[in-house]
Amino acid sequence: MKKISLLGATGSIGRQTVDVVKQHPQHFKITAFAVGRNLDLAKQWVLDLKPELVSVQTKDDCELLKTEFGHLPTKFVHGMDGLVEVAVFADSDILVNAVIGSVGLYPTLKAIEAKKDIALANKETLVTAGHLVMEAANKHGVKLLPVDSEHSAIFQALQGENSKNIESLIITASGGSFRDRTREELKDVTVEQALNHPNWSMGAKITIDSATMMNKGLEVIEAHWLFNIPYEKIQVLLHKESIIHSMVQFHDSSVMAQLGTPDMRVPIQYALSYPDRIPHEAKRLDLSEIAKLHFNSMNFERYPCLRYAYEAGKTGGTLPTVLNAANEVAVEHFLNGKILFLEIEELIERTMESHQTIFQPDLETILEVDKEARSITQSFVK
Ligand code: NDP
Ligand code: MG
Repeated sequence: MKKISLLGATGSIGRQTVDVVKQHPQHFKITAFAVGRNLDLAKQWVLDLKPELVSVQTKDDCELLKTEFGHLPTKFVHGMDGLVEVAVFADSDILVNAVIGSVGLYPTLKAIEAKKDIALANKETLVTAGHLVMEAANKHGVKLLPVDSEHSAIFQALQGENSKNIESLIITASGGSFRDRTREELKDVTVEQALNHPNWSMGAKITIDSATMMNKGLEVIEAHWLFNIPYEKIQVLLHKESIIHSMVQFHDSSVMAQLGTPDMRVPIQYALSYPDRIPHEAKRLDLSEIAKLHFNSMNFERYPCLRYAYEAGKTGGTLPTVLNAANEVAVEHFLNGKILFLEIEELIERTMESHQTIFQPDLETILEVDKEARSITQSFVK
């Protein structure tokens, strides 16, 4: 029985993690979880999962839960301290980090110090401070198990392989909701159109990131850190069906790919069952039914956010922190109807240009730069 701490239990990945756990009660149990503001679902999970510890974002919500569930042995906590308490919970073996944004960084570092293995969905954590996370993971001997489908595919393709034989990583990209539009046709797209992803049903932020291709940019940086591969050896390939989840090219010319119908519960479950595999009900892949798969090379003019991400990753230091923070703020403004779709990339570019990169930043510097970048992006919004 693997005991799980889950951050972001009410989100898209969080809900699918709960689903995986419910399918395999003999294998998994959620002993602690954290949510943001979705109290209704948090209450349901308290009753369904009977956790020992629950964290919510605000003190008021925490008090509400304490009153409502006073008869239960569950402990309720809140805020960043609450997130950390869940992340390092003594009665859990693994942390599933499925919060959105760089708020996931500090609890991840604390969980690593507490020697918890980590199933990581929260890619912003690796983008904003990959060097600190990997250094800590190596120091404390903890495993970082990818949940992102592309990274899970690469991780699976690398089982039993020696990383010195890797020639390149090939990350596939569906192209998101606007893949069939020209840049001209992006000028007045709506939030609703942007949220309509053709292959995956995900949280709002990552769905917009998919439309701008920033998601792939964040994934390139995530892959760089997880697999310790230089940016020159990481390629992105457009593949609209999302059947091949990513590939590894070895230097003998062999290519290993991982395939499957698009269903995030599969990589979530693999991260939890690793190194074993357990049955899953996901729709089976029928290649004769699909008949054709399509591939296109990436166009960096069409998707400038991917270019910014490579640039930030290659430069290193605090520039990826700035890229990520500016993106988080810009996407939030787009979702709130304050800026146009194409202004997302413009805000990111301007924020990056205004930043003087600091190399080898420590945690304090990262947190400061993250905060500062957010306010700079904010100041560019009219
Ligand atoms: P969602 O927006 O659906 O969920 C985010 C979760 O984080 C919610 O549970 C939310 O709580 C919680 N949360 C947000 N802010 C805070 C906070 N300050 N304190 C505590 N909890 C907070 O996101 P997704 O599930 O889509 O994505 C999660 C992560 O996984 C992201 O990093 C994303 O890039 C990555 N990912 C997602 C995939 C997907 O299919 N969705 C695929 C691959 C990667 P609440 O709702 O209660 O406010
Ligand atoms: Mg992905």
